[in-house]
Amino acid sequence: MQFNFSADSAFSFLQKQCDFGPRIPNTPAHVACAAYLEKKLSEYGALVTLQKFDAKAYNGEILHSTNIIAQINPSHPKRIALFAHWDSRPYCDNDAEVNWKSPVLGANDGASGVAVLLELARIWQQKAPSVGVDIVLFDSEDYGTPSFVQNDSEDTWCLGSQYWGAKKPYSVKPIYGILLDMVGGVNPNFGYDVISQQFAPEILAKVWSVAHSLGYSQTFVSKTSGSIVDDHYYVNILTGIPTIDIIDFSPNRGFPSTWHTIYDTPQNIDKESLKMVGNVLELLIYSE
Ligand SMILES: [Zn+2]
Repeated sequence: MQFNFSADSAFSFLQKQCDFGPRIPNTPAHVACAAYLEKKLSEYGALVTLQKFDAKAYNGEILHSTNIIAQINPSHPKRIALFAHWDSRPYCDNDAEVNWKSPVLGANDGASGVAVLLELARIWQQKAPSVGVDIVLFDSEDYGTPSFVQNDSEDTWCLGSQYWGAKKPYSVKPIYGILLDMVGGVNPNFGYDVISQQFAPEILAKVWSVAHSLGYSQTFVSKTSGSIVDDHYYVNILTGIPTIDIIDFSPNRGFPSTWHTIYDTPQNIDKESLKMVGNVLELLIYSE
């Protein structure tokens, strides 16, 4: 198969998101980036719907939030959902203490997954897949209780997917879902996340087999990585759509070293990682 997914184009979508600055809810950068994502996805021929909601953060702050839903082949009865979060985190709480209150630029943690999905939308305008695809960009994923505050609760994370899962704003339920999170790092390790294994083992097998057919078995590793409560957890428990997470996590190092630090910038992105994930999804969706 000839691939149309362009690493340079995907990277430019990542850079563009970062150029707005950190996409923290209730900031002008966040508003501007939402408008940009809505415009791009519409330009690429998707049917775009904005799901606006107010979420309550761990500290009581009301986060004016928007899940961005872009449908390709909107009336097709067989649908696959592709997810990423488009917000970025207000705290570098995995960094030195002096940086704890600085926002994360989120080149990898946020923008990378969105960039891959934008690039797929671009190529699907040239050649449409023969199934329906629902791209869902969740908001307010990364506003969870900072590590320097007591009383962490898991439910303070993933507010956009919790809202989407509760409302189920679709007329046709997707047959499965794939979440992308931190897919642009250097030398990523995409392993079997325990929650994906629990809820969607057949989807993990299918996606990893596509990756291996492309020669990516060093990156898409057939080993358990960790148990990660990410947006796919809420999609699974609230909607029953079997959903996996493609996320960079290794049992040795945990998340990538730039995670929730001031170093999560476009300089620390490897375009080839975006391309691997993009090619896997391009082949997978055209094969459906
Ligand atoms: Zn994060």
